[in-house]
Amino acid sequence: MSIISKDISKAIALLSAEELVAIPTETVYGLAGNIYSEKAIKAIFETKQRPFFNPLIVHIPSVDYLNNIVASIPEKAKLLADAFWPGPITLVLKKKSIIPDLITAGKDTVAVRVPNHPKTLGLLNQLDFPVAAPSANPFNRISPTKPEHVEEYFKNQIKMVLDGGPSKKGIESTIIGFENDEPIIYRLGSTSIEAIEAVVGKIEIKNKKEVSPQAPGMLERHYAPKTETVLTDNLQKIIKEYRGKRIGLLLYNDILNDDAIDFKIVLTQDQNLEEAASKLYDALHELDKQDLDIIIAERLPDYGLGKSINDRLLRATK
Ligand code: AMP
Ligand code: MG
Repeated sequence: MSIISKDISKAIALLSAEELVAIPTETVYGLAGNIYSEKAIKAIFETKQRPFFNPLIVHIPSVDYLNNIVASIPEKAKLLADAFWPGPITLVLKKKSIIPDLITAGKDTVAVRVPNHPKTLGLLNQLDFPVAAPSANPFNRISPTKPEHVEEYFKNQIKMVLDGGPSKKGIESTIIGFENDEPIIYRLGSTSIEAIEAVVGKIEIKNKKEVSPQAPGMLERHYAPKTETVLTDNLQKIIKEYRGKRIGLLLYNDILNDDAIDFKIVLTQDQNLEEAASKLYDALHELDKQDLDIIIAERLPDYGLGKSINDRLLRATK
């Protein structure tokens, strides 16, 4: 029987009984558990096979709720929360002692956001605790943007996926930390740098795992298909290299008709970066099912959400 269900009261009952429920958000589906339940939080790490040193994002119902879990709020954090919540921006702030160390990997800061999905906001408003909800995929695998993706990963491990349809944004939240009260981007994501700078001015990027293409061996592999994946500006050259193999293409521009191609997905027909982001992970899930020898991904323009998509594609490569 399917674990996918639209029953919010069942999700509330399970979460209140310290069980895990996969929940829809506008970014990707999250594997949710009560932040105050050691049992639930340990189950999140175990189910995902996520290392304990990797802290979790706390999901709260409103901007006002922030005061319950953080000790102080820099002025620019307040500006960002007011501008983007509910929405795909995560703020890393000094935590109150009530937040368990297991959530923050022992750090004195906590990552928090208000997700923008009507079902999950409804859920959070009815729970008397926030939930931690990392992406509902095994560690290092492709993030889920549809309930079916989660079911495929975890049907034997969790009791329920709350069905909220496909995730509208499709890539993870942008994470912002503060140093001397000044915002810094720790992870590129669904809120573009340009949109953030319109609110708080020029912002530094310390996308921790950002690497130069000159050092591919140093790449952190994450968000990754099982199929070998390459990211390129020069499709023709790579296609030539793999001629004779089973080739899949992930394209931004639908310009290629080549007999060497076994399967292709075009992310957008009209250069719409939002649309490309929303389709990215589903496309990778699909490509990964085609028994290909290689997935060749075309690099997107390096602005707006194109920057975030390129970041994810880079981590999908070896
Ligand atoms: P996700 O796996 O999408 O839920 O993202 C969680 C990520 O949030 C982690 O991998 C960290 O990079 C980041 N994060 C969470 N808590 C903190 C924190 N206290 N300080 C810095 N980064 C954090
Ligand atoms: Mg994740």
